[in-house]
Amino acid sequence: TNTMSHEAFTAAVDQGTTSSRFLIFDPTGTPRASHQVEFPQIYPHSGWIEHDPYDILNSVRLCMDKATEKFINMGYKVEDIKALGITNQRETTVVWDTVTGKPLYNAIVWPDTRTKKLVHELRKADGANRLHELSGLPLSTYPSSVKLLWLLRHVPRVRKASEEGRLAFGTVDSWLLYNLTGGVGRGVHVTDPSNASRTMFMNIHTLEYDDYLIDWFGVGKVKLPRIVASSDPDAYGLITDGPLAGLRISGCLGDQSAALVGQCAFKPGMAKNTYGTGCFLLYNTGSKPVLSKNGLLTTVAYTFKGVKGHECVYALEGSIAVAGSAVKFLRDNLGLIKQSDEVGELAAKVEDSGGVVFVTAFSGLFAPYWIDDCRGTIFGITQFTRKEHIARATIEATCFQTKAILDAMEKDSGTALHALAVDGGMSNSDVCMQLQADIMGIGVDRPAMRETTALGAAIAAGFAVGLWKNVEELSMINKDCRSTFSPRTDEASRERGFELWARAVKKAEGWID
Ligand code: ADP
Repeated sequence: TNTMSHEAFTAAVDQGTTSSRFLIFDPTGTPRASHQVEFPQIYPHSGWIEHDPYDILNSVRLCMDKATEKFINMGYKVEDIKALGITNQRETTVVWDTVTGKPLYNAIVWPDTRTKKLVHELRKADGANRLHELSGLPLSTYPSSVKLLWLLRHVPRVRKASEEGRLAFGTVDSWLLYNLTGGVGRGVHVTDPSNASRTMFMNIHTLEYDDYLIDWFGVGKVKLPRIVASSDPDAYGLITDGPLAGLRISGCLGDQSAALVGQCAFKPGMAKNTYGTGCFLLYNTGSKPVLSKNGLLTTVAYTFKGVKGHECVYALEGSIAVAGSAVKFLRDNLGLIKQSDEVGELAAKVEDSGGVVFVTAFSGLFAPYWIDDCRGTIFGITQFTRKEHIARATIEATCFQTKAILDAMEKDSGTALHALAVDGGMSNSDVCMQLQADIMGIGVDRPAMRETTALGAAIAAGFAVGLWKNVEELSMINKDCRSTFSPRTDEASRERGFELWARAVKKAEGWID
């Protein structure tokens, strides 16, 4: 190995759904300096979720400033950071005016269901049957396309800007990149294929915007970000302000792709499950997109320019809309716990959920069900039911959906997973991960360093500047001190539990409000 790799630090912006972070990693993938801030969630109506684009941007800037300050105080220099990547919540839709650089509406966040009626209408429209084969996505409230269409139809100033050719669209990566590289007149307007594949405007086979999709959604006049490789030294530009001014951005990945990379799941057949606000299982399918027949999404995992065998890697994805957000719901809306990390303890006080099943369909149900007309429903409550049972059923909801996604993956790919690599906020709970192993019947494998999303973005950036030549050189990264959780259940009890869950899902369907 060269001397450079011993001293080279990498850094990443991780802009998540509930918080933003900035982390600076040493060559072993250990964070040496970091800063994290939560930012406000805006819920204007039932089912609506928004972020102020300036809250997003300012929280990122604050994290970059604070973490860099800590790094410098430890005796390092900004020049020791050799690569900078960005990773972000996906699908969340930002629109801004190219003349002023200002947003024209709050960001519509990925689990927002305001487009439910619009989606029902679109499903009946001519040509809707081609969307899946072209984009890899089912038509639902989830992708950016329907969020942008809603804005064009319902917000006159957005429509006017589009007609006048000054409407820029972007997912959060594009909004951040534009502003961090100088904003109006200077900033880049780009995105990477892992993010672009979630808009429903990109052709999943060519990695370019598809004329049919653009026409079908009627967004021909909107300025879309240019699609560039996830790892590219020249595409993303330089930071213009703050303590990191002059540093080059060289990597960009959607958060779930970044976690796959951070877990070093580089080979076909490798998978990871990230338990954040939502929960997302990605399964590496190599250089070919696999179209799902069982309710999974086809997505770009990453495109690493110049890294042999990794120029374009796809994944099958199972997306769960509600995971950690249900824990947050127990804390903030019901007051059953004071802190998220108490949920495991509470759930462990009872042996089972006492027959309670909680279908946490706050945003409808995503993969593999795609039911948008259901709401969160708790089944099986009796006089016996205690808050401990509710807590346990809340955790189990994510675990059962993960099991349903694994079954769908097995049908689509023809192979079964033997263990599941995990990360994300909820994976911090041993109780949650043990329940997951018990419900799936396979082991759960958890790294000690669980900032895999940020690490993945840093890795993408590092490849672009030549810190590594191939993925094998990363074999030492984040391999220490993993914990494993083995199933303690028999098959019959697993089947009984899952059958109860499946019945609850059927019953929760068709709730009209
Ligand atoms: P995101 O990137 O989507 O913002 P994170 O990976 O930071 O999410 O995870 C945050 C979520 O994880 C929160 O919704 C929180 O409720 C949940 N969470 C955090 N710690 C725990 C824990 N120890 N047990 C259960 N849930 C947790």
